[in-house]
Amino acid sequence: MDIQTFWNETVRKLEGRISDNDFGCWLQSIQPIELHERSLRAEVPSAMHRDQICARLRPEIAAVLEEQLGPGADLVLSVNKSRQPPAAEAKPSARPQGEAYTFENFVVGRSNQLAYSGACEVAARPGSAHNPLFLHGGVGLGKTHLASAVASHLARGVRRRILCLSAESFANDLIRAFVTNATEAFRARIRHLDVLVVDDIQFLAGKERMQEEFFHTFNALYAAGKQIMLASDQPPRDIPNLEDRLRNRFESGLIARIQSPESTLRLAILLRKAAAIGFDLPKDVAQWVAAKVVSSVRELEGALHRLVAACRSAGRALDLDFAMAVLRPILRTPPPKTLEQIQRLVADNFSMRLEDLVCHRQQNRLRVPRQIAMYLARHSIGATYAEIAAAFGGRDHSTIIHTVRIAEERRQRDSEFARLVDDLGERFASA
Ligand code: ADP
Ligand code: MG
Repeated sequence: MDIQTFWNETVRKLEGRISDNDFGCWLQSIQPIELHERSLRAEVPSAMHRDQICARLRPEIAAVLEEQLGPGADLVLSVNKSRQPPAAEAKPSARPQGEAYTFENFVVGRSNQLAYSGACEVAARPGSAHNPLFLHGGVGLGKTHLASAVASHLARGVRRRILCLSAESFANDLIRAFVTNATEAFRARIRHLDVLVVDDIQFLAGKERMQEEFFHTFNALYAAGKQIMLASDQPPRDIPNLEDRLRNRFESGLIARIQSPESTLRLAILLRKAAAIGFDLPKDVAQWVAAKVVSSVRELEGALHRLVAACRSAGRALDLDFAMAVLRPILRTPPPKTLEQIQRLVADNFSMRLEDLVCHRQQNRLRVPRQIAMYLARHSIGATYAEIAAAFGGRDHSTIIHTVRIAEERRQRDSEFARLVDDLGERFASA
């Protein structure tokens, strides 16, 4: 597969995981150059592009590259001023063709049944079936897919004003409105909608001003009988630093959790996705993949993608042996033992219980030990974000990415923190 085809696929996978703004402004400015082992080298037109992409999109891009290339994959950006930035008005339609997120191509099973039927009811009776509809579940389980399916279903037929965006885009638009004295226009635009779909609402955690604005938006739309749909990686009660009044609003309609797909659903999804791209996926291979790749639909798609790419480049059909050889690098067994050793070391160092380190309770005294333990898991043993997430009580992937990033940044600027982390790292290495 050539580098551009590979990158197009990366971009397609990022679609829906990042905001339209980030997609148009930043992602499309990346020009892939070469793939060296697990590192994708690419160019951008300016240092600002490089900095913005690193700050805003790096974890998401790295996560997709890990799905495609295996653990430790990353993007290396360099500046090439002769590259033209893409047209400023990059519209979603400029995206490479991927399958649209619709109800028709959403495969239903026990783990997503409630979310699916809730979404169908909202699409059939917006404003009256469930308001709000709140979907939650781990990464790659279909929340964005269902949210987009509702929005695009409602956009057909009757004229409705619909906005479907990520909470981060909501926040960015609001900040821009503040800065340009256009807050009233922003409010008028949002509050006249018929349907508001906000993805990754957990982004509002700890952002008081954004929460306040969203609270008023929510009330205005709700009072007018307009439909609100929200998706999050956590249920309302577990989103940290969320005002109670907003939590109450979020809990006032239907809350539906999407769980990791069960084995029959994993198999059905694989067969459905292979058929959609006309790829001949033997049943025994599909069964084996469905038994091995268990945590999310996104990872299933990643596995399928690797099989397709490997068959194309080898010019051969797929069989079980070949599938095993291709997927073995991404199916390495997680290192629970070593992860637990890191957790124990950190817990002992801070004289705390292992359970406290791993649990979901939000307390100041737990924050730094968790940051350090996750940092070490990532950097000392190269655990993937998914492995760390599993070892820390099934947290969300994006929470781990965020926490590791905070620890990395703090290690750069806080020499005492750096000494502590490095000291623990050395003790782990020599244990
Ligand atoms: P989330 O928002 O929960 O992180 P996404 O909605 O982005 O996950 O889903 C990740 C990928 O998996 C998308 O390509 C999506 O189309 C696909 N997907 C998830 N669940 C299903 C499903 N039940 N049927 C078909 N495709 C699915
Ligand atoms: Mg999503």
